[in-house]
Amino acid sequence: MSASIIDGKATAAAVRTLVREAATRLAARGARPGLSVVLVGEDPASQVYVRNKDRAATEAGFEVRTQKLPASPSQAELERVVEGLNADPDVHGILVHLPLPKGLDAGRIVRALDPRKDVDGLHPENVAALIMGTPGLYPCTPAGCIELCDRHGVKLEGQRVVVIGRSMLVGKPVSLMALARNATVTLAHSRTRDLAAVVREADVLIAAVGVPRLVRGPWLKDGVVVLDVGMNRLPDGKLVGDVAFEEAAERAAWITPVPGGVGPMTIAMLLANTARACALQRNLPLEPALPGTLLAR
Ligand code: NAP
Repeated sequence: MSASIIDGKATAAAVRTLVREAATRLAARGARPGLSVVLVGEDPASQVYVRNKDRAATEAGFEVRTQKLPASPSQAELERVVEGLNADPDVHGILVHLPLPKGLDAGRIVRALDPRKDVDGLHPENVAALIMGTPGLYPCTPAGCIELCDRHGVKLEGQRVVVIGRSMLVGKPVSLMALARNATVTLAHSRTRDLAAVVREADVLIAAVGVPRLVRGPWLKDGVVVLDVGMNRLPDGKLVGDVAFEEAAERAAWITPVPGGVGPMTIAMLLANTARACALQRNLPLEPALPGTLLAR
């Protein structure tokens, strides 16, 4: 293996330390950041994920409330919960755990959020801010990818960045973020012809697909930087990314492992968004700025 490993665990820990310091400063001014997590249903994987968020936010010094709703609340009931949290001055960030059970319209729930409390960065107002390059709350996993680049000296300006996957959660926002950093961006998806040839052009590859080991080593240019967002559980229980790690590591200069790469950054950036949301709502300065604030460099 020749690639250096981009250590997401260590990077996320460094971001969480900055957030904890910011939270201490905000609390000293009477504004302890408050995060409310809404979990609908009993899915065990979601319960674990929400518990991890709860623990990380508590360690950062936040006030955390998790509301567990039964598996099948009505759309109106869930919207009432969101409206209650929108109106609560002690709640600065609201996170409705997605996906929602069948029958609930996630788009309507996201639109019901106060955009200033939308720490997932999915409300149309925040999406517009990302497109326009204006201040807003930006999605956590994509912001985590950019932060990993920043903290490992990976410059995006002028680079060919290939993103595989065009979801609203990862592929589209991370493409816009790379574009804001003056990269030349190609966005590939399931209808892309000759994906291997497109990937071969990449100086930086961001894979957000959900297909285990889709990207093979020989597709990659020597010296490429690989950010693997994929988290795929194999039948034997092993967690793997969208990139065949061992093969890719033979070619790449830098590569994120799965697990321990992009994954840990998501919660760290969620905490940064919540502290930022608190400062904005309470009209307090947040100096130094937290990661994920600035798109352009
Ligand atoms: P998604 O909404 O299912 O989107 C997947 C994207 O991949 C779609 O745009 C799809 O193209 C494209 N795609 C599917 N098969 C393809 C193929 N064979 N070749 C090229 N493109 C293909 O998934 P997502 O929410 O973006 O998540 C993607 C992966 O990231 C998943 O493994 C997920 O678990 C992981 N993830 C990780 C984190 C984290 O914290 N690390 C956070 C979010 C997601 P079409 O649009 O044409 O269908």
